[in-house]
Amino acid sequence: MAPAAQRLEAEGLIRRFGGRAVVDDVSLAIGAGEVLCLLGPSGCGKTTTLRMLAGVESPDSGRIRVDGREVFSPQRSVPPEGRSVGLMFQDFALFPHLSVAENVAFGLTGARADRRARVVELLDRVDLSRHIDAYPHELSGGEQQRVALARALAPKPLVMLMDEPFSGLDNRLRDGIRDETLTLLKEEGTAVVMVTHEPEEAMRMADTIALMRNGRIVQQGAPYNLYNSPVDKAAAAFFSDINVIRGRVDGGLTRTAFGEFLAPGHSDGNFVDIVIRPQHLKLDFHRDGQAPLPTSQNGVPALGHVRRARFLGRDSLIEFEMAFDGSTLQAVVPSVFLPKPGLPLWLMMRRDRCHVFPAVSAKA
Ligand code: ATP
Repeated sequence: MAPAAQRLEAEGLIRRFGGRAVVDDVSLAIGAGEVLCLLGPSGCGKTTTLRMLAGVESPDSGRIRVDGREVFSPQRSVPPEGRSVGLMFQDFALFPHLSVAENVAFGLTGARADRRARVVELLDRVDLSRHIDAYPHELSGGEQQRVALARALAPKPLVMLMDEPFSGLDNRLRDGIRDETLTLLKEEGTAVVMVTHEPEEAMRMADTIALMRNGRIVQQGAPYNLYNSPVDKAAAAFFSDINVIRGRVDGGLTRTAFGEFLAPGHSDGNFVDIVIRPQHLKLDFHRDGQAPLPTSQNGVPALGHVRRARFLGRDSLIEFEMAFDGSTLQAVVPSVFLPKPGLPLWLMMRRDRCHVFPAVSAKA
């Protein structure tokens, strides 16, 4: 039996502007009820990719299928309204002269009673039944957002395309609305592609993250995998601050103040960067100069002095001056600990959290 078609498939999408490929060979596959986040810095091609999926931008090459039906190929292009995709953008623009119910009913066809039933059902699901006859200006930003979601979902699109849909909301509202939106989209079984430049948002929402850079997907996978197994230094740096310790390979090993690191695949004489996130450094007190014993998991402790410590609410960010070379490393620890400047502490690198990359200066 042939495998069931994905809800949305894109193959080899390319879009050039002025001779430059701003989307360069992007392929995606998303199943029913799955959320894929296109994540990356400004200008990397996220919105252009989304616009091609929506049908408002024409690829120079590639193919797009919705539920197995070709909606774009070199021979054919189905217009946006024929693709069974819903759209939700940052400036979601409700119609100001229409009531909430009329806004939600806008794209619906069929018998009046059926349309009304769908509107009532969706407004109940987004908890706005009591505002059914209100006008957009009478609603808060979060409520307007929920109306926009209900409007986009009303015609039961197979695919929902969202471009930074939560960025206009204030922080306190955002988390709740993200979670409600996700629940509703999953219940409806809609396949979702969401554009964001915020890694936290992508990790919160996505089943799969496609990390983009210069028009290409550089890494694609579950949030856990992108965070814990970054494909390069820039991919690591996109998700949090990183510490970088430069080393030189000698006999397949890199020697650092934190002991020796295996550098498989790196030739002798080459420089490598050992990358570790601040929250994966472990700290221990300096007991009369006695260092904790090295372990296979934590490696060799290295001495640092607190340069400054900042209270960030849940965590503290501690900046160290390292005794061995005066370099700076950062650690993030629970905020119950806020050491004074000058305090000596031992730092340990959790071996399983270190990544060794060729030493190149790259930005995500
Ligand atoms: P942002 O997060 O800032 O929205 P993005 O990743 O969504 O960025 P795109 O909007 O897809 O990036 O733009 C990718 C590149 O393509 C940018 O350099 C942009 O200037 C360029 N670009 C987009 N649309 C056009 C256009 N119509 N004509 C020329 N260049 C364009």
